[in-house]
Amino acid sequence: REILIQAEHLHRYYGPICAVRDVSFELAKGDVLGFLGPNGAGKSTTMQMLTGTLAPSAGTIRVQGIDLLDHPKRAKRELGYLPEQPPLYRELTVDEYLTYCARLRRVAGREVRAAVERSRSRCGLNEVRRRLIANLSKGYQQRVGIAQAILHNPAVVILDEPTVGLDPIQIREIRGLIRELGESHGIILSTHILPEVQGTCNRVQIIHRGRLVFADSMQGLESHL
Ligand code: ADP
Ligand code: ADP
Repeated sequence: REILIQAEHLHRYYGPICAVRDVSFELAKGDVLGFLGPNGAGKSTTMQMLTGTLAPSAGTIRVQGIDLLDHPKRAKRELGYLPEQPPLYRELTVDEYLTYCARLRRVAGREVRAAVERSRSRCGLNEVRRRLIANLSKGYQQRVGIAQAILHNPAVVILDEPTVGLDPIQIREIRGLIRELGESHGIILSTHILPEVQGTCNRVQIIHRGRLVFADSMQGLESHL
């Protein structure tokens, strides 16, 4: 089992409020891990700590053995992130946008074109590569969001509520895409809806009031329902 993420005893306080309390878990290669919990449970706080955008009050995060707090640049190279509301530049075409993101992500100049082609192919965007993002359906815009998250070919991809606001057909397509990505990346999918993890994940963790209250395989969860 190749361990991609090791989170140990994560805590996060906002003033006196403890939003995340003693959260520990591992993500291994092949895991599509659902991070399930109601609003206010501490999902966003945890995802922000895992992506290195919010410092834990206590605890450690290692990404492929690299300490995220000590070596943020090296660790972040192995992390891709789809925020709940990705900043998509609507006036750019898909390829222009992905090229721009690759540069931001410091993909080496001579590798930018290959990185853009690889991630847009994997996300089923070849036919729309010259279209303006503004003119794409929400489902396709979400594929663009996923394509930017995998541009630098990270070991781990973190997805925040990836199907919110999509119609049932788009949801099915995005879930299929996530399962495919799970064959080559470790995935953490944060959501407040159970069907999302049922349709997509092979492991699940439930967070409630900042604590992990359940962690098992997907079959393990189904046996409780
Ligand atoms: P979720 O993503 O599961 O909805 P959050 O991580 O956003 O949960 O929030 C967990 C708790 O932390 C909630 O009680 C929320 O009100 C609180 N919280 C989140 N962000 C802040 C902040 N910037 N300042 C103060 N409290 C916050
Ligand atoms: P720093 O202040 O450490 O330079 P940056 O925000 O410039 O942090 O990003 C450092 C690394 O983080 C980038 O090289 C890239 O690999 C990764 N990164 C930043 N944003 C994202 C994102 N949205 N998705 C995936 N990786 C990202």
